Amino acid sequence: MTATSLIIGCSGRDRRHLEDKIRGTSAFSHIMKEKDLARAMTTMKSRAVDMIFYGVSDPSHESYGWIHELGTQGNWSEVPVFLFAHTGAEEERIRGLEAGACDFLSFETSEKELAARIRAQLGWKQRVALLRRAKEDLERQATTDPLTGLFNRRFFQRALETEVARSNRTEAPFSLMLIDVDRFKAINDTYGHPIGDVVLKAIAQALQDSIRRSDTACRFGGEEFALIMPGASDENIYRVAERIRKKITRLALPQLPENHPLTVSIGIRRVPRGDLSDAQQIVSEADEALYAAKRNGRNRTEIFDGPENPAATESWTNQSPLPLTHQA
Ligand code: GH3
Ligand code: MG
Ligand code: MG
Repeated sequence: MTATSLIIGCSGRDRRHLEDKIRGTSAFSHIMKEKDLARAMTTMKSRAVDMIFYGVSDPSHESYGWIHELGTQGNWSEVPVFLFAHTGAEEERIRGLEAGACDFLSFETSEKELAARIRAQLGWKQRVALLRRAKEDLERQATTDPLTGLFNRRFFQRALETEVARSNRTEAPFSLMLIDVDRFKAINDTYGHPIGDVVLKAIAQALQDSIRRSDTACRFGGEEFALIMPGASDENIYRVAERIRKKITRLALPQLPENHPLTVSIGIRRVPRGDLSDAQQIVSEADEALYAAKRNGRNRTEIFDGPENPAATESWTNQSPLPLTHQA
């Protein structure tokens, strides 16, 4: 019994009457009382309330309006409101229930009946809370990679599309970084798959520790990760990537021999103000940069610069089929 109830009643007599009855049900460990709706709201802002007992002599437009309003307020919308009135023709009871009261009772309702109605409401609340928790768990599972705890590919797709739409709308720049572990297959082959998993977890943690709260770290695929970084599309992003890359080379994992290199290659696609590329194109261009990093020797960062940049076009026509510049 840890539930808290709030009695609202304009007359002291009504409040005491309700309090005696509610206390008699033994359903609540705390019973609070307020004499009007304004004070009730102030109390509810500072304390969680599980159930409201609202006593009026004659239900009015104000009481129905308040119950209805409460039902529209996110955190209070599920607090059951018992409406008590001295008068309550069938029509009034219907209006009360339609406004959102869970029950419309007379002040003469017996303690026994009130206790049963409270239990029914508490049971209902408990079931709703369980369902909500189960739904949140499922949502988390559906968007989380179980090995690393980072967001998964499905979440990445949604987050990137949201970021692209935001960037198109507000002209806010961002960058996408794809990070691929170098020669990871050799780690699996030499030390076994479970050690490979340890390495992936450590890299995921290093990424998580390197980013801002507004950034999103995802496991993009097997040994490939993605960072969506709002606000960053200038030269700084290269420095950020290099810091991450170097941090990973310094990871000292007891499961790997000291001389086994652990490195990553990074491909960046910057999305500056006014860039109207779509999510798919941004991913494939970040991937092109990543492949250039692999081709250029691994353990390095490359930025996709687009063929419109003369330097990039030169590097594209002279050296590789890809529009890339190396920003060492
Ligand atoms: P490169 O430098 O070109 O990226 O070489 P690589 O060996 O990292 O790339 P490759 O694509 O040849 O190998 C990736 C390996 O990652 C193969 C796959 O078995 C392994 N892998 C994918 N997912 C997991 C996982 O969840 N755990 C472990 N331990 N290994 C994984
Ligand atoms: Mg790899
Ligand atoms: Mg790979």
